[in-house]
Amino acid sequence: LEPAHSFMIRTRTPGGVVSPAQWLQFDAIARRFAERGLRITTRQAFQFHGVIKTELKATMQAINAALVDTLAACGDVNRNVAVAANPHVSRLHAGVHAQAAALSEHLLPNTRAYYEIWLDEERVAGGGEEVEPIYGERYLPRKFKIGFAIPPGNDVDVFAQDLGFIAIADAGGKLAGYNVAIGGGMGASHGDPETYPRLANVIGFVAPGQVIAVSEAVVTAQRDFGNRAVRKRARLKYTIDDRGLEWFVAEVERRAGFPLSPARPFAFDHNGDRFGWVDGDDGRAHLTLRIPAGRIVDGALDGRGGAVRHLSGLRAIAALLDAEGDGAEFRMTPNQNLVVARVPSALRARVDALAAEHGLDGWRAASPLRRNALACVALPTCGLAMAEAERYLPEFTGKVEALLARHGIADAPIHLRLSGCPNGCSRPYLGEIALVGKAPGRYNLMLGADHRGQRLNTLYRENIDEATILGALDPLFARYAASRDGNEGFGDFLLRDGIVDIPDRDRRRGIP
Ligand code: SF4
Repeated sequence: LEPAHSFMIRTRTPGGVVSPAQWLQFDAIARRFAERGLRITTRQAFQFHGVIKTELKATMQAINAALVDTLAACGDVNRNVAVAANPHVSRLHAGVHAQAAALSEHLLPNTRAYYEIWLDEERVAGGGEEVEPIYGERYLPRKFKIGFAIPPGNDVDVFAQDLGFIAIADAGGKLAGYNVAIGGGMGASHGDPETYPRLANVIGFVAPGQVIAVSEAVVTAQRDFGNRAVRKRARLKYTIDDRGLEWFVAEVERRAGFPLSPARPFAFDHNGDRFGWVDGDDGRAHLTLRIPAGRIVDGALDGRGGAVRHLSGLRAIAALLDAEGDGAEFRMTPNQNLVVARVPSALRARVDALAAEHGLDGWRAASPLRRNALACVALPTCGLAMAEAERYLPEFTGKVEALLARHGIADAPIHLRLSGCPNGCSRPYLGEIALVGKAPGRYNLMLGADHRGQRLNTLYRENIDEATILGALDPLFARYAASRDGNEGFGDFLLRDGIVDIPDRDRRRGIP
């Protein structure tokens, strides 16, 4: 008898956009093959957890039947391309999303092995005739992440990406091009100062027609100069720090065949999601729903002792939109939430009723802290986890909420992020408060990021348990309550008050 191995499958869904018909297919796949429903990742993909080995192929084939693949959703290649999902920017969204989807296609590996192994397209790869013009024989030294942001929202945390594009609109609101940012990355290893989170540098501006060329230049420069000897130092951020930003930009321009234009002004005001309905400038309405830790299941606790029916509720909404939605779509957000987008106004009340009936309107009563909180999967699913994250999030959030309420600041929109290990899948180093797992029940407490995704936090207390974490936060909340300056964010206050000191290198990088 073989052990009952189970697997996680992750989709490639650029920008996290799926149609209602695709949603229904994913819902059916989750109920048939996965253990814990659907999960939205911080890169706008679905993860199916607990797929048993004997059903892997059937699951992959069902995903492909929904016209989605899992190609390059993992591995040392470009991963799922993230795109702002913010419904406030509906006018620019379609164009930026199309650009991101085209870039995702362009950066796919050429290998036929995926199709041969999972989709029964006969010969399994081999023979040596495949050519990989972008990845070459050895692919990249490490994974590579790309994100497109549309100011003023920075929901993709564009400075946490290896390669970021910041959409710039002209005076008429049309897309003029993108500022390019390179060298972001969250991952680090405990106790190894050679590894660290880093924010991307803004290096210039490109026209929409130059996006693919500049992306290929950055990716191939990293392919050729990235560190292949020390895997922990293989991300683009280290290549840039080791060789120098100026050198790397010159190499990118040489490969692209054109110089970058000077970066254009932009401003971010927020890196979370806004919840509820927004009327788009396309005459459609968009509803952003809170999905705690991105987990879509029936029966999960909502953190206040109640059961939810999110999987059933979204199935009902998808069925309605599939039948009558006329181009409505779902957008997974980079903060693990979901936008029911492009809803015809005639359907708005019915979508609202279905959301309420299935407990999908929890965001209405949730505190700002809870609405913005992120957590990676961690235990029991992730083999790298050192501590709990997703399962601990509701309980820990409740305890922090109680502390905030005691100081009369329950309304403080603090960004809280939990991570089971320092790899940083929930982008914890951009949390105003973040826990990074060290061991079961023990975390590094990180403080002081802003809420625009433009400043990293810093280590405040190392390897402490819950009581010590809450004990450390208590006096800080008291000071914040007493002397915060208007709407000043908690992270900004900590910095102004000298409670944390952020190294210059971790502040805004080349941002005009
Ligand atoms: Fe990612 Fe680490 Fe969380 Fe696993 S435990 S999901 S590797 S951050």
